[in-house]
Amino acid sequence: AATDVKGKTFAVATDTTFAPFEFRNGGGDLVGIDMDLLHAIAENQGFSVDIKSLGFDAALQALQSNQVQGVIAGMSITDKRKLIFDFSDPYFDSGVQMAVAKDNETVKTYADLKGKTVAVKRGTEGETFANSIKDANGFTVKALADSATIYDDVKAGNSVAVFDDYPVLAYGVSQNNGLKIVTPKEAGSSYGFAVNKAQNSDLLAAFDAGLANLKANGDYQKILDKYLSAPE
Ligand code: GLN
Repeated sequence: AATDVKGKTFAVATDTTFAPFEFRNGGGDLVGIDMDLLHAIAENQGFSVDIKSLGFDAALQALQSNQVQGVIAGMSITDKRKLIFDFSDPYFDSGVQMAVAKDNETVKTYADLKGKTVAVKRGTEGETFANSIKDANGFTVKALADSATIYDDVKAGNSVAVFDDYPVLAYGVSQNNGLKIVTPKEAGSSYGFAVNKAQNSDLLAAFDAGLANLKANGDYQKILDKYLSAPE
């Protein structure tokens, strides 16, 4: 299958800010685990990528309308999404967690959210999880476009908490983003590269072949270590 992609260029959509998976570094370049992984796989398999940094919900819409051939965006492999997308082999295990402002001493559990508003990123597992427990705990869910905006909403005091993927929350907290994590991880899905169902199967096969090669030669682990052991 890998030969079918050789020399071709594929448009791949991603999120705007989802560090350490995709984010702009000090020089304005889009970097992160997803970006390094995709570039390394493309090189390994002999294809090129044209990255479109659109935002999470917008990336999924761009894929569905065939403006791009793939999405890599810390995108969780869920049963619901598998109805419309085909996913690569999983490349990172994740799950949802709750964070509040660093100086908040009153909200420590889901029950403490009673009567309050929480911010989530539209179209994400964090949104789905928040909606699944909001009635039982009596809180309101506000969906916004990206991770930076939901974190700002908490810091501004408009929302009291966010639900987001734990590696992303942990990375942000390690960078002193003004939040702290207060609940255990919810069991979550793994991340995968997505294409539209039954389309671009050669690209998907090349991604899986490249991922397997990078796992075998140690480059996959090097990419993880670069962003997770010593955050920039
Ligand atoms: N992993 C989450 C999901 O797929 C969030 C992805 C993201 O915000 N980029 O829903």
